[in-house]
Amino acid sequence: MVVSRAEVLGMCMGVRRAETLARKAAQDGSCGQRPVFTYGPLIHNPQAVAALEAEGVRVLDPSSVDSPDWADRLRNAIVVIRAHGAPPEVFSRLDTLGTLVVDATCPRVIKSQRKAADLVRQGYQVVIAGDRSHGEVMGILGYAPGAVVAESSAEAVATAKRFSRLPVALIAQLCPATSERQNSLDSLAARVSAIVVVGGKNSANTQRLFLAAKASGKPSWHIERAGELPKEIFSFASVGLTAGASTPDSMVDEVESYLLGLNP
Ligand code: SF4
Repeated sequence: MVVSRAEVLGMCMGVRRAETLARKAAQDGSCGQRPVFTYGPLIHNPQAVAALEAEGVRVLDPSSVDSPDWADRLRNAIVVIRAHGAPPEVFSRLDTLGTLVVDATCPRVIKSQRKAADLVRQGYQVVIAGDRSHGEVMGILGYAPGAVVAESSAEAVATAKRFSRLPVALIAQLCPATSERQNSLDSLAARVSAIVVVGGKNSANTQRLFLAAKASGKPSWHIERAGELPKEIFSFASVGLTAGASTPDSMVDEVESYLLGLNP
């Protein structure tokens, strides 16, 4: 079997940087014995979250930040803000508690937050395109008081009509990471007879990659671990490999080795 990787695949710059900062916080001697938490899961990938936990980086339920029960624990803790960012109130609250904050917000997300804040200041009704439960969208909302979220183009149009007395500005993700992976997948699909998408089942961008893989017409699988692949995968002469923007390199390597029969 020939296994081909998509030209662009796997962890994006922002998630990679956040992971490095979280590891550094856990290892950094100057942090003493402080417990290290991430504000919500750092990565939409259960295996990567478990690996970080083994290194002492635990996931903090965002609601704990406002809970009096957590105040003492957080006072002595380090909290890493993930690549998605967080609303300004979260930074203020942690600051009040005396928590040491490591801000791993992706520079591209910061650009979106600043853009949204700027547009609100200029008098625009800001509409943020995206999933309203996504951490990045919730973070941007925090910087743009009065902004609303639209999950579809129909919702964006309806919102624009609702606020027709104001100029309306639509903000979408200002990041090429998703489109680069999608475009690479398109050219990969033309060269292979089946496609494997590696990444967390809870990762929205991995799910979208999988939908694009299926739309290519090639038999496709979305897996987190190599062991989830069916035996029929070995009947294909060429298999294409891609991975979402939160998938660690080690997982892509593991699946590639499995397909090549190097770790049966
Ligand atoms: S997808 Fe883009 S904006 Fe989001 S964390 Fe990755 S690099 Fe940053």
